[in-house]
Amino acid sequence: MRAMVFDGKLTCVDDYAVPSLSGDQALLRIRRAGICNTDLELVKGYMNYRGILGHEFVAEVVDGPAEWLGKRVVGEINVADGTCDLCARGIPSQCRGRTTVGMDRHPGAFADYLALTARNLHVVPDEVSDDAATFVEPLAAALQVTELTPITPSSRVIVIGAGKLGLLIAQVLKLTGADLAVVVRRDRPRSLLDQWGIPAVTLEELPAEHAQIVVDVTGSAEGFESALQLVEPRGTIVLKSTYVGLPQADLTRVVVKEVNVVGSRCGPFDAALRLLGQGLIDTQSMIDARYSIEDGLEAMEHSARPGALKVLLTF
Ligand SMILES: [Zn+2]
Repeated sequence: MRAMVFDGKLTCVDDYAVPSLSGDQALLRIRRAGICNTDLELVKGYMNYRGILGHEFVAEVVDGPAEWLGKRVVGEINVADGTCDLCARGIPSQCRGRTTVGMDRHPGAFADYLALTARNLHVVPDEVSDDAATFVEPLAAALQVTELTPITPSSRVIVIGAGKLGLLIAQVLKLTGADLAVVVRRDRPRSLLDQWGIPAVTLEELPAEHAQIVVDVTGSAEGFESALQLVEPRGTIVLKSTYVGLPQADLTRVVVKEVNVVGSRCGPFDAALRLLGQGLIDTQSMIDARYSIEDGLEAMEHSARPGALKVLLTF
């Protein structure tokens, strides 16, 4: 099968072995996949991952449990052991024995086929297109901000970092009715935010210490520093991006301002599918380009361009 593989060097091959199934796994034929910033980090060495990349996808079940055959599905990326204390507490995404699709000891979705436990699958309703369904995983991650931090129409919220994930978070937060602004540097995200009726601002336009909640999607020390400036005393900073390296941060100010710092990772797929089914999230405007899996290297290069939004792989 065709696959985009990282083994210290990124290559696209056409002779990778189709995975064989074990346990309750389903064989998924990938229909479409999306490139995430995490994929770009993995090929720079993040997680020391080796194998097929890719964790944003929509697929069709072609083998495995009979009740899943022929279904169009998306799949959660954390493969839990189902036996540890965190699994017992209903937090399989933090399972102590988990592997992660396309990121940590589990093959990914930038390939014709992927074997994945049926427990992780969700059926995609007809009203959600293949394009939109490739956004389920990052949209679920965006929704996790509201799962872990209460945000109401009276909340003053700022999002820093208007890339792929930041723009999904902005759309999700708009649905809460909160008093929302998004810090932007580029014209493209500014025009998308305008289109969605979400205020786009520059850092200089914002008063210091005035936001109850700041969501930092930059993954940079500068982003966290800005968040620390903007958040009011006893406010909350939500960290919504893995950081490149180990950034320096002024933790004394976290102490003095009594700031809550909340990490947030994977989120609810069912809710993401429902929002997409209801047309509440605009994914189409966020698609920059499509490439066939055979041109995967070109697709990764495109995705790495400054300001690039979603690049999709077709099969
Ligand atoms: Zn577990």
